[in-house]
Amino acid sequence: MAPPAVPGASATAVELIDGIRAGDRRTLARAITLAESTRPDHRADAEAVLAEVLADAGRSVRVGISGSPGVGKSTFIEAFGLHVADQGHRVAVLAVDPSSMRTGGSILGDKTRMSELARHPHVFIRPSPGGTQLGGVARRTREVLLLCEAFGFDVVIVETIGVGQSEVAVADMVDLFALLVAPGGGDELQGVKRGIMELADLVVVNKADGDLAAAAARAQGDYTNALHLLRPRWQAWAAPVLACSAREGRGVAEVWTEVERFRRAVGDSGELARARARQAVAWMWSEVQDTLVDRLRHDPRVADAVVGLEADVAAGRTGATAAAHVLLERFGAS
Ligand code: GDP
Repeated sequence: MAPPAVPGASATAVELIDGIRAGDRRTLARAITLAESTRPDHRADAEAVLAEVLADAGRSVRVGISGSPGVGKSTFIEAFGLHVADQGHRVAVLAVDPSSMRTGGSILGDKTRMSELARHPHVFIRPSPGGTQLGGVARRTREVLLLCEAFGFDVVIVETIGVGQSEVAVADMVDLFALLVAPGGGDELQGVKRGIMELADLVVVNKADGDLAAAAARAQGDYTNALHLLRPRWQAWAAPVLACSAREGRGVAEVWTEVERFRRAVGDSGELARARARQAVAWMWSEVQDTLVDRLRHDPRVADAVVGLEADVAAGRTGATAAAHVLLERFGAS
């Protein structure tokens, strides 16, 4: 087969593109490693690969799964992923977990966490990339998502732990954002921020088993009421609240049925295509923003002035706006 015509692509990039098209998993893993790297030559190769395989991406169902630590995300994703894979789908599981930076690796230990799922021949699990900021982690995860799609995974699950801004970042890269909750004592909605509820296209009350079954039923009612008070995100879809037991595997198939129903509803209404178009444009601008800020911070003319200006702004000697203009001027952007 003739090598693909990729103007300016390095031999490495061409090799990766061929490997991805040939369905070689190790090549996919290598391409992802390059996409997650901060080295400029790695980034250049990753971008060449992405540009080339982009046409093969976009055909998966993108599902975000969020929930506070302990609600049962890994147990759920394992049961859910196995069910979906057994339906004949090829499933990729990615994680956006900025807090993993604190330990310098994935605190989630994804591979051991979902050991049965990881062994399934149609499943690919990728732990959260390292990074210094959520923005960086989310930026890379979007690219990894596209690489996985181009490779042929038709269901991509992006997991995030229910803290901070990672929910918003994940909701911005998936079709359906599912919130996993567990029944608690007393106020069932406690601990789930309204902002996160607003992002949910589906709420799943996990641990609906044994002693927790009655509390789970109550929580299901409470969440249903709470969702009624929020403005719906889609015209063709009202977020349902399901109950399941990930541990016992009950109710998990129903979650997948709802995901499929969602895809049909917002696909038929045209909203999914519009949402993805919006996400792509938003991604472009965040890429512009991140790249500009990176370059500005690394510009020697700017670096010379930063420390002094930060001190001046902190001490109130210079206004923040005026200082920002000085930096932009030095960078040549003002
Ligand atoms: P994560 O931190 O959200 O990934 O949660 P895990 O999947 O690690 O689960 C946290 C704890 O909840 C573990 O002890 C699980 O065994 C338990 N757990 C998970 N799913 C269920 C469930 O469906 N029912 C019950 N009773 N416990 C569960």
